[in-house]
Amino acid sequence: MARLIEELKKLPGVGTKSAQRYAFHILRSSDEDAAALAEAVRGLKASLRLCSICNNVTDIDPCVYCASPVRNRRLVCVVEEPTSIESVERTCAAQLSCEDHAHRHRRSRRQRDRVHG
Ligand SMILES: [Zn+2]
Repeated sequence: MARLIEELKKLPGVGTKSAQRYAFHILRSSDEDAAALAEAVRGLKASLRLCSICNNVTDIDPCVYCASPVRNRRLVCVVEEPTSIESVERTCAAQLSCEDHAHRHRRSRRQRDRVHG
């Protein structure tokens, strides 16, 4: 128990009280849940690493973003944690499809004007 509490205290934002609460929660949880937690930690270290170019969390090195041939290599988006990459990617994709949609909308209106004019 003391060993688990010491390990949990190494996590960011986890003090002695939280570590004790987590340890007691794990103690009370089912064998399956405890094993799943242990296996998730082991699996994370076994299958994932940080990209050698951008420090993104990845299962292949370089990561999909750094390995992509269609990305602009002169433009860098800096985020604090790899977890922020997905929301930036989603926002960019949404903006691109909106621009694409606006472009198509403009074009279809022009075509419509031509039909009416
Ligand atoms: Zn990368």
